[in-house]
Amino acid sequence: MPSSDVIVIGGGPNGLAAATRLAQSGRRVTLVEAQPQVGGGAATTEFHTGYRTSALAHILQGPDARVASAMKLDAHGLRLSTPLTTAVPGIDPLTMQGTFGKVSGLAATDLAAWSELQERLTRFARLLAPMRQMTPPRPAAKAGNDLWNLGKLGLSLRSMGKVEFRELLRMLLINVADVLEDDLTDDRLMGLLAFDATLGAWAGPRSPNSLIVYLNRIAAGETLTLPMGGMGSVAAAMRKAAEAAGVTVLTGSPVDRIDMAADIVIGVTLANGENFAAGAVLSAICPRRTLETLVGPRYLDTGFIRRARAIKSRGGAAKLHLALTGAPHFPAADLTWRIVLAPSVNAVENAFNPVKYGEVPDAPVMEITFPTAHDPSLAPSGHHVLSAVVQFAPHAPKDRDAARAQMLQNTLNVLETAAPGLRPLIAHAEILMPYDIEDRFGMSGGSWHHGDLAVEQMLFLRPFAGVSQYNTPIPGLWLGGAGSHPGGGISGAAGWNAATQLLQGAKP
Ligand SMILES: Cc1cc2nc3c(=O)[nH]c(=O)nc-3n(C[C@H](O)[C@H](O)[C@H](O)COP(=O)(O)OP(=O)(O)OC[C@H]3O[C@@H](n4cnc5c(N)ncnc54)[C@H](O)[C@@H]3O)c2cc1C
Repeated sequence: MPSSDVIVIGGGPNGLAAATRLAQSGRRVTLVEAQPQVGGGAATTEFHTGYRTSALAHILQGPDARVASAMKLDAHGLRLSTPLTTAVPGIDPLTMQGTFGKVSGLAATDLAAWSELQERLTRFARLLAPMRQMTPPRPAAKAGNDLWNLGKLGLSLRSMGKVEFRELLRMLLINVADVLEDDLTDDRLMGLLAFDATLGAWAGPRSPNSLIVYLNRIAAGETLTLPMGGMGSVAAAMRKAAEAAGVTVLTGSPVDRIDMAADIVIGVTLANGENFAAGAVLSAICPRRTLETLVGPRYLDTGFIRRARAIKSRGGAAKLHLALTGAPHFPAADLTWRIVLAPSVNAVENAFNPVKYGEVPDAPVMEITFPTAHDPSLAPSGHHVLSAVVQFAPHAPKDRDAARAQMLQNTLNVLETAAPGLRPLIAHAEILMPYDIEDRFGMSGGSWHHGDLAVEQMLFLRPFAGVSQYNTPIPGLWLGGAGSHPGGGISGAAGWNAATQLLQGAKP
């Protein structure tokens, strides 16, 4: 039976980052991935003959600086576009650099208010940024590492001063719409910010605590880029780095179960019945599936399995791919930009409300890119690929096929209004709903973060209290996918943090 020190389950960005970190520290590592290719949400796939794009993630905000540098992603062939401009197109357009940068197209009063708000939110986001690279401290623990992390956190909060600290507390508990409407008046800017704040979340801008998710997003980095060759080239560079470090990568190898002997992890069994022995298993697939399906209730106490089952995992983002026979025209927007169609705070909120009841919004809001405008090799000559994250989409509608068809129609209607003449250019359309994403990629509920990223599932509550430090009550079993701190995105941060903890041999 093949044997390794550690088996990493899942070849998404987090699994690849974790495997590399472990191998670079001298561990013998085997990574097993269910799909024929690595990448998970970052794979580039052909969705129509001759047209390729990123399966889910299309914009890179990161990756984590430690991961990019230790994996030498540039040297392994990763090439990025120039930083993206975001545009709210129309007769009266507005542009922003990246996700939270300089804005043009605003009246002077709103520009001043925006500068003040941007400065304030950036200050708070900077406080959160170091926490992304930290193992969440257990507030009640006596361990030195926890106290050190808690101490660092306490010091940075103390250095803020009372007034600022009170403002931070107010901000953490408030909804994003209130903050925007307190300070700004421009619907285009507020719509864009409300969209960005709720991207990938199961929350509308008026949902309680929605601002903290936005601060976390700003903390992940303000620069947005598109990788040449689609997001799959990030995965390809990560795979090269992993293999260069000595990781054995097995694709087309779904894990059926995590094997145990005397309640200790001893390896995994693949769906084809093949066994692999290992001293530890680090699972970079979603925590709920890992615990409920791959381990199973037999090995977990009732309270623990109940908490695993209670992880909220509600995807609200759909992915649209259009194969276009020519270039569409969005007024005052360049196809190399990121185009956001979210005309106001209420437009974003109205797109969220129906999905709470399993219904499709009449006018979804969306973020659009044209990967072919940066890398023409992704489609036949002169043709284009439109890739869009469309929100919100129900993860559990009554009739899946009807909801998918309705979502596509409503999305195309919004697109046709924004870019008249787009429909006749469509050679093929594909929309992936959250349940399609769950079926294809194994993300519970189709959730962007393998579990809601919300205040009740953040930091030492992620994925739930007791497993927030990447280890579990089962000796030898570790969690390191997007469901763990600091959440998802193409960053590899959770996998890197988990591997670091494993190397330090943290005890449950
Ligand atoms: C619609 C949508 C759009 C998104 N857009 C963006 C974006 O533009 N930018 C961004 O940064 N993020 C985006 N994301 C989020 C991003 O895709 C995820 O957060 C990220 O992929 C998580 O990485 P991961 O490595 O933790 O897991 P994944 O990427 O989900 O990888 C997990 C891997 O595990 C494999 N696997 C599952 N079960 C098994 C098993 N039993 N055995 C072996 N392997 C298994 C899967 O095949 C997969 O390859 C988007 C998400 C969604 C849903």
